[in-house]
Amino acid sequence: MTIRFEPSPESETAAKLRAEVRAFLREEIAAGSFDPSRVEPQAKFDRAFSARVGARGWIGMTWPREMGGHGRSFAERYVVTEEMLAANAPIRAHFVADRQSGPVLIKYARPEVRDQLLPRIVAGELSFCIGMSEPDSGSDLFAARAKATRTNAGWSLSGTKLWTTLAHKADWMIGIFRTSPSTEDNRRHGLTQFLIDMTSPGITVRPVLFPSGEHDFNEIVFDDVFVPDEHVLGELGDAWKQATSELAFERSGAERFLETFGLLAPLVDLIGPAPQLREAESLGRMVARLHTYRHMAMAVSGTMDRGGEPVAEASVVKAGGTQWEQAMVIEARRISRLIDDDGPARDRFEDALQRITAFAPKVTIQGGTIEVLNGIVARALGLR
Ligand SMILES: Cc1cc2nc3c(=O)[nH]c(=O)nc-3n(C[C@H](O)[C@H](O)[C@H](O)COP(=O)(O)OP(=O)(O)OC[C@H]3O[C@@H](n4cnc5c(N)ncnc54)[C@H](O)[C@@H]3O)c2cc1C
Repeated sequence: MTIRFEPSPESETAAKLRAEVRAFLREEIAAGSFDPSRVEPQAKFDRAFSARVGARGWIGMTWPREMGGHGRSFAERYVVTEEMLAANAPIRAHFVADRQSGPVLIKYARPEVRDQLLPRIVAGELSFCIGMSEPDSGSDLFAARAKATRTNAGWSLSGTKLWTTLAHKADWMIGIFRTSPSTEDNRRHGLTQFLIDMTSPGITVRPVLFPSGEHDFNEIVFDDVFVPDEHVLGELGDAWKQATSELAFERSGAERFLETFGLLAPLVDLIGPAPQLREAESLGRMVARLHTYRHMAMAVSGTMDRGGEPVAEASVVKAGGTQWEQAMVIEARRISRLIDDDGPARDRFEDALQRITAFAPKVTIQGGTIEVLNGIVARALGLR
């Protein structure tokens, strides 16, 4: 396997769509539906906003029309995501379902389950969470111990999931549970993906607070939670294959370099229209790297449009993009200390800096750590 980033410049259709999304966001901001200066993730969950995005046709964009989607390209979805993230729009109520749960359902759910859920996801009505990590199994997903036991009418789930983002707000989870022991020659075997109704009896969702005290992710205890047979996704024991392609969706987007982006505009304002050489040089370096990751992410979308599964390329974008996000915060703080301005621009910058500094450490851990991503890249290059 090699790693390739085929240039995928923006098409005319995508450029037109970008203008539409910007106009929509301007209207939303003018109507007071969200505050674009709220940079922290917790501010970005709003079901009513998701319903309006759904009404525009911007959820499930790449899904087949016969399944309720809009049959558009990944490049177009990229444009919508990028504009929403850059504006700090509250897209988290539908984001996980749009990015990865929907595609998993399309591939692996039974037709009646798809018919029931996909149109509601596309309408922005349903929120999903991802139940992969456990107390002793994060990077090593295949060590998962939470188990599913056969009952007469379906399955009984028991065990604990950890770090589950937005589980306290989600309607559904797609989770990985052990349905049989791993085999000697394949330790990945025996894990199965389930679709779980988060209102099921036996589920306890406990908050795990960020160091800032905010509630974004959770520990979830499953105590004899019933799941019907029709909510098994794909083949029994095959979750490892299915989850691998899910992770390509999870790691490839603009969210992998735009989570701390909310600091850049306040920094530009603080620097002002006549930067000193050192400020211009610093800003130039930051923006050049951002531009590069952006084009790499667009290339990943282009590959997905051509039917590829750019798992290694997505890992390069996520590993590099998230490290850029953290480095940018440190550099912005450094350069800001050299600027002599105590006005409102300073206040706006310091506020954004404080909020972003509190959550920036997470970006290189969630969705796969740097070391794990580097391992995937090394394997793709034939180095291990
Ligand atoms: C903000 C946030 C949100 C999250 N949301 C979710 C969610 O919604 N659903 C979900 O399922 N999970 C979620 N996670 C969990 C996340 O996927 C795991 O934290 C991550 O995969 C790392 O696993 P771990 O925490 O068990 O660390 P470990 O796997 O124990 O890793 C500890 C250290 O060892 C290193 N390491 C581990 N294995 C290797 C290896 N093979 N080679 C080299 N180094 C290695 C790691 O890089 C890391 O530095 C979230 C995490 C965060 C921080």
